[in-house]
Amino acid sequence: MTRHTTRMLIIGSGPAGLSAAIYAARAGMEPIVVQGLQPGGQLTITTDVENYPGFRDVIQGPWLMEQMQAQAEHVGTRMMWDTIVEVDVESGPPFVARGDSGDEYVGDTLVIATGAQAKWLGVPGEEALSGKGVSACATCDGFFYRGKKVAVIGGGNTAVEEALYLTNHSEDVTLIHRREDLRAEKILQDRLFAHPRISVLWNKRVERFLGDPLQGGLTGLQLADTVTGEMSEFGCEGAFVAIGHAPSTELFKGKLEIDANGYIVVAPGTPKTNRPGVFACGDVMDHTYRQAVTAAGTGCMAALDAERFLATLEYVRNEQQAAAAE
Ligand code: FAD
Ligand code: NAP
Repeated sequence: MTRHTTRMLIIGSGPAGLSAAIYAARAGMEPIVVQGLQPGGQLTITTDVENYPGFRDVIQGPWLMEQMQAQAEHVGTRMMWDTIVEVDVESGPPFVARGDSGDEYVGDTLVIATGAQAKWLGVPGEEALSGKGVSACATCDGFFYRGKKVAVIGGGNTAVEEALYLTNHSEDVTLIHRREDLRAEKILQDRLFAHPRISVLWNKRVERFLGDPLQGGLTGLQLADTVTGEMSEFGCEGAFVAIGHAPSTELFKGKLEIDANGYIVVAPGTPKTNRPGVFACGDVMDHTYRQAVTAAGTGCMAALDAERFLATLEYVRNEQQAAAAE
């Protein structure tokens, strides 16, 4: 077992964690980033990214994350191939985390950037056609379906917002829901029902995504009626699964304040959790925006606030040492 110590321990290597690392390393904090099972985060499972500032042409998600990692390492970040399996946020600072490897990571400050994962239906064709017509992010991918027929699956706020957003690009949007009542707020429902380019298919469950990933991608959905059991096919070129997101907060349950949807609660407008010295950034604390650029922005905020926290902590420690020496 090796014990790694740092002034800033960052859990997660998506845009939030790596942005925090870049700021922390440039401030001389010699941060450690524990990368987890998905080094580079969610953008490594997508292809085209067109909305990250700084690039006129389309860039690839995995490439963008390689650049962020290279920059973080170049300025002095230590990257660890490990996954945190246990963390003590209660008795720090310093905060102690244990990796799957058995190694221990000790940080004077802790930045949580463990992200979130979109929930998927888990039916045939979904994984194979992901990025080839199947998506879980209209803001990210809606642009690629300009003028095309698209479906949104789900009945909550996210699904209704995705459907409304997609009307910016598509002439023909269908919301497909497994029941005949939406869970979404009434104001959103009113907007949905009033929209001339949105239709709703009630009581339908997606059984299969149809199409060939190597030849044109998604062509439609096989649907089952949840009341009659009748099967049907629905033709579309894009399908957006919007059945919710699961933030990666298992490690922190009962240790940090977490909201009803599982997201880490931060003080409004800041990355500060309810534990001094522990900060959260990116999708793990943000169920509203969920974008690479917002994750990077809150990563920057976490590093700056951690730096300030550390300055205060070091000042207090020095004072205490001076008093003890007298
Ligand atoms: P993530 O990117 O989710 O990274 C989380 C990190 O935490 C990972 O490195 C993971 O390994 C690590 N981790 C988790 N648990 C542990 C643990 N226990 N120990 C150590 N590490 C751990 N956004 C855009 O702005 N533009 C787009 O075009 C776009 N396209 C997208 C396409 C797809 C298919 C998806 C899924 C998302 C897309 N997004 C896009 C959203 C964007 O990817 C996220 O908003 C962003 O990645 C969130 O960054 P994050 O750093 O908070 O978390
Ligand atoms: P959600 O409220 O949990 O809704 C998920 C929807 O997906 C439900 O309609 C559910 O159907 C459906 N669903 C779940 N699993 C499914 C499956 N396997 N197959 C088919 N359908 C499935 O999730 P959300 O919409 O992402 O919202 C999450 C939270 O964020 C909520 O608290 C929401 O209010 C909040 N949010 C707020 C805003 C806003 O305020 N503007 C925007 C987005 C999200 P059932 O209804 O049948 O269960």
